Amino acid sequence: MSKCLLDLGEKEYRAKQILNWIYNKYTTDFSEMTSLSEALRIKLQSILSISIPTIITKTVSNDGTTKYLLSLQDRSNIEMVIIPNGKKNTLCISSQVGCARECTFCATAKLGLNRNLETHEITSQVFLAIREMGEDKLTNIVFMGMGEPLDNFENVVKAIRILQHDLCFNFSPRRITISTSGVIPQIAKLAETGLKLKLAVSLNSAIQSKREILMPISKTYPLSELKKNLLDFRKKTPYRITFEYVMIKDFNIGQEDVKALLKFLGDISCKLNVIKWNEVDDLPFETPATREIDKFISSMNVLSSAVTYRRSRGADIGAACGQLAAKNI
Ligand code: SAH
Repeated sequence: MSKCLLDLGEKEYRAKQILNWIYNKYTTDFSEMTSLSEALRIKLQSILSISIPTIITKTVSNDGTTKYLLSLQDRSNIEMVIIPNGKKNTLCISSQVGCARECTFCATAKLGLNRNLETHEITSQVFLAIREMGEDKLTNIVFMGMGEPLDNFENVVKAIRILQHDLCFNFSPRRITISTSGVIPQIAKLAETGLKLKLAVSLNSAIQSKREILMPISKTYPLSELKKNLLDFRKKTPYRITFEYVMIKDFNIGQEDVKALLKFLGDISCKLNVIKWNEVDDLPFETPATREIDKFISSMNVLSSAVTYRRSRGADIGAACGQLAAKNI
């Protein structure tokens, strides 16, 4: 922004004024930026445009979770979800149109990868959500919507810098989480950027052969390597890693699974977040019964790490984890 204004022969402080209009007053129309001279407003309008995705549908679940189907400039669709929980409001955003990682239990995987989102297409989901919710309501951002954030590394990192920048969204690092299927080289690269944020890793099985069935990425980046890399990552970053574990009936919550999981997590300072598998049409998995879920969770009690059971939110509207398929319903 500064460079663009300098090129126009304007003073650099104009950039700050424009950022203030965008990020504090949520204006995207240059003609409304009245602290700029009229000539500059007209000039900016003729050479720049700020594009925000269009809301195609907004669906509100019984539990207040709201799913937005958004259309981008090239008419690709993505989804974002707002999950209210007491005073906490979490925004779940997408990083790609579709996903290349082919996890066999996830609805987004069925789409394949269409393309990476541009940086502004990532940050504008946050912008839209704040406009929808009203200021000061959004407390947390999670990259758990469509896509593998670390497969769109450069744009995701740039977007996070904008989310954290004090002249932009000024979001605290503790309140931004990237969730990954385990793209090892990019996890190492992320640590090197020095960017502060929370990392979540979708584990889903600590048994190599089973994880390969659920997450083909595990064939390229096996569990043993993943663990080594996460221990390294942990040394370089201030926050504990969260492991996510989707519970699937008769597949990954039996005794051997518990044993493998306890062994895998034993020496990592981390959190474990378990969630039951949410129904996706045509996929060969089932959600476990409550009794089986309780049994699995109680067998995790021996862990020193915090274990949380994330209740599925928005499942009635297809907005729960793994149900995002950008279908226009
Ligand atoms: N690609 C990233 C982020 C998107 S998936 C990743 O893999 O982490 C976000 C989370 O939803 C992941 O933890 C994934 O394991 C979970 N998930 C996917 N499909 C699901 C389903 N059908 N039910 C419950 N959780 C699911």
